[in-house]
Amino acid sequence: MKITKNDALQHLIEQTDIKIAEQLKRIEQSALFNQKKVLDAFSALKISEGDLVGSNGYGYDDMGRDNLEAVYSHVFKAEDTIVRPQVISGTHAITLALQANLMHGDELIYITGKPYDTLLEVIGVEGNGIGSLIEQGVKYQHIELKENQIDIPSVLDAMSVNTKLIAIQRSKGYSSRPSLTIAQIESAILAIKAQYPNVIIFVDNCYGEFVEDREPIEVGADLIAGSLIKNPGGGICKIGGYISGRKDLIERIGYRLTAPGIGKEAGASLYSLLEMYQGFFLSPHVVSQSLKGAVFTSAILSQLGMETTPRYDDYRTDLIQSVTFNDKEKMILFCQAIQSASPINSQFLPMPSYMPGYTDDVIMAAGTFIQGASIELTADGPIRAPYEAYIQGGLTYEHVKLAIIKAIENLVEKQIIKL
Ligand SMILES: *Cc1c(COP(=O)(O)O)cnc(C)c1O
Repeated sequence: MKITKNDALQHLIEQTDIKIAEQLKRIEQSALFNQKKVLDAFSALKISEGDLVGSNGYGYDDMGRDNLEAVYSHVFKAEDTIVRPQVISGTHAITLALQANLMHGDELIYITGKPYDTLLEVIGVEGNGIGSLIEQGVKYQHIELKENQIDIPSVLDAMSVNTKLIAIQRSKGYSSRPSLTIAQIESAILAIKAQYPNVIIFVDNCYGEFVEDREPIEVGADLIAGSLIKNPGGGICKIGGYISGRKDLIERIGYRLTAPGIGKEAGASLYSLLEMYQGFFLSPHVVSQSLKGAVFTSAILSQLGMETTPRYDDYRTDLIQSVTFNDKEKMILFCQAIQSASPINSQFLPMPSYMPGYTDDVIMAAGTFIQGASIELTADGPIRAPYEAYIQGGLTYEHVKLAIIKAIENLVEKQIIKL
């Protein structure tokens, strides 16, 4: 069946399908493994209809909420979890983890280079500094990656008895480096813990959940955090974030989220539980759909002469596919085409503009059901050289495929690329 009138493009799609068949099969195997993890957690915790209902008011004795947190803990091999609609985003989840566990005089070291844009203001190295960790007396530095790996000798050199928390960002976010695999994270944690057994290791797990067979706590991380409008929400959560990890650290985070003394005992789940359970259940499959889309995107665009990272056959640890355009207009046109192939707001043209928390203007193609949900197909990036767009998500592989085909048709029509 033809899906484009352009014969050369139709041929290229068919060739791409053959080329990526092996990768797609591997993604399916991984989805099966991760689906089993989730299913096993649901049955181990005997999740029942009553858990889906939710509470109101203070939300004491909210069994459904507590059991959902236990499901997350089971899957991520954590002692405890906070997963709630009151955690409004990934940035909020990470902020809670850092603020609750860093006191005046403590040092935070990011060992994966400069962190994700929104976190720069949380730390206080950018923005007005109000409420930031630095304002509260936390010391901060980051260590650059070396040849795309964590520079363990430099990290150990930089550490001291005042180093309270080491932060690792698994996904590249809006940077040009590759994302870090669980195996790479594992060797860094082993080396650090051998010398500083008490340091808290935090992993920003955004975009990473269910891509590999293991998650960061299984390789020694003390805390992980992420967003429910990315992977673990399965595309249906409307809000939320999670933090999983050591019980004592999660307790402090609960105190920070609500109030000292109250902690995670309160916080009504209202009507959010059904979608949080169902979304987590769907997540391994939806993640596999996004990954298949990313592999297709990488394979077909690299054949058209664009630089794509990861390459179609690279091992993956997250959903992000970056495409380097080296040209502002090309990047903008591509993102606009993705928007036009979205289920929602396809008639609107996204333009680069200011976004709170980001330093450069950002273009966001996001024709999503849920605002900003990057587990749905989105293409975005800050407007700065080398004009790299980050393409991620997709609730169904078919949608990603159609959108990329449409974007290629657009660029061909505007004579920006030739087939
Ligand atoms: C998306 C993301 C965040 C922040 O999550 P939001 O939900 O957008 O606040 C933090 N770190 C990384 C690596 C991310 O990809």
